[in-house]
Amino acid sequence: MDKKRFVYADNAATTRVSDKVFAIMQPYFSNEFANPNSIYSFAHTARNAIEDARRKTTDAINAKNGNVYFTSGGTESDNWAITGVAAAESRKGKKHIISTKVEHYSVLNALESLKKQGFEITLLEADAEGMITPDQVEKAIREDTALVSVMYANNEIGTIYPIADIGAICRKRNVLFHTDAVQAMGCVKIDVENQNIDLLTLSGHKFHAPKGIGCLYVRKGIALNNLIHGGGQEKGKRPGTENVPYITGFAEAVSIAANTVNERVEYVTNLRDKLLEGILTIPGVKINGTMKQRLCGNINVSLEAIEGESILLALDMKGIFASSGSACTSGSLDPSHVLLAIGLPHALAHGSLRFTLNEENTMEDVEYILEHLPPIVQNLRNMSPLWREKGG
Ligand code: PLP
Repeated sequence: MDKKRFVYADNAATTRVSDKVFAIMQPYFSNEFANPNSIYSFAHTARNAIEDARRKTTDAINAKNGNVYFTSGGTESDNWAITGVAAAESRKGKKHIISTKVEHYSVLNALESLKKQGFEITLLEADAEGMITPDQVEKAIREDTALVSVMYANNEIGTIYPIADIGAICRKRNVLFHTDAVQAMGCVKIDVENQNIDLLTLSGHKFHAPKGIGCLYVRKGIALNNLIHGGGQEKGKRPGTENVPYITGFAEAVSIAANTVNERVEYVTNLRDKLLEGILTIPGVKINGTMKQRLCGNINVSLEAIEGESILLALDMKGIFASSGSACTSGSLDPSHVLLAIGLPHALAHGSLRFTLNEENTMEDVEYILEHLPPIVQNLRNMSPLWREKGG
C-alpha cells in the first residue's frame, strides 16, 4: 500500500499563511475592528498598525526615498504602475514603453490595453535561457520612452534579471523603471535605493501573507495617475478603507522574508538541487531556463513525449502538488508564453513541469517526489506513441 503524503511543491503559485503572520493579523479582525480613518481613540490602534506596517515594509526594501502604498496584490500593483506612469508621462509626449515577452500577464495585458490607447510597446526577446540583458534595454530606449518594466524574477523558469544594472541604465537615460518583484521577495535582497528602482510591485501571498494584499513602492517625485478613485486613504493615491489585518500580516511577512534571505537561499537551494539531480536521472528531460541566475526553489523541466497535465494528475493522486506553467494560465490548453518565448517547441512546452520549493519543504518531501515521479513518467511513456516512435 502506498503511504500517501501531502507534498506542496507549488510555492510560486501561493504559500501558506505562516503562524506568525496569522497571529499578528487576528486582533484586527475582532477586538481592533475600528475603521482606521475614524478620529475617535478606538481607531488609533488600527491607524497605528497601518503606519507601523508601512515602516516595516519601507525598512525591508529600503524605500525611505519614496512611498509604499498598500494594494490588493501583484496584479493591481503592476496595472497601477504601468497605466499610472503611462498616463502621467504621455502628457509630456512620452508614449513608448519597454518590457519583455516573459512578463506575467498582469504586465503584458496592462500593456496590451495601453497599445489600444495608442501607446507603442516594445517587448524584448529573452534568450534561450530566459535572460534579458541591460544592453537590450539600453538599445530599445528612445526619446519618447516613458517607462521600462522588467520583472525581478520569472514566475515560471525562475530567471533572476540584472535589475540594478537595468535600473542604472534607465536612470542614466532619464526613463522611469518599474520591476515586478512578486517572485523575488525573500529569495533575493531587494533594495530599491541601491538597485535604482523607481516603482516596485510585491504580493503578500507569495511569502506567507494572505492572498489579496500587496504593495506598490513609488519613488518620491514620480507623477503617477490613480488606478481607482475615491476617498483620501493612502494619501488619496489608492482609496478604499484599508484592509488593516491583511496590511499588518503583509508587513510582518515582508519583514521576515527580507531578513531571512540568506538562510532561505541556502536551505532551499540544497533541496532544489537534490530534487533536480534526481529528476535528471529520468531519460528525455530538459531543464528550462538558466541555472546561473535562478530563484533558489525553482525547477522547470520539459519531459519528452508526455503532457505536463498528465504528470500533474498522476502526482496529485500521490498527494504531490506541482504545476505545469503559471497557475493563472493553467486551465487553458495554450502552452506557456514564457516557454514559447525562450524558443521551446510546442511539444516540449506542453511537457513542462514546475516544482517550486520553499523553506517549509523538507528532504523527505524531495525523497517522496523522487520515489513517485520516475514511475509516473515511465507509465505515461509506456502509453505514449510518441515515446515509442523515439525508440524509448
Ligand atoms: N507577477 C508575478 C511575477 C506573479 O507570479 C504573479 C502571480 O502569480 C503576479 C504578478 C500577480 O500577483 P497576484 O496574484 O497578487 O495578483
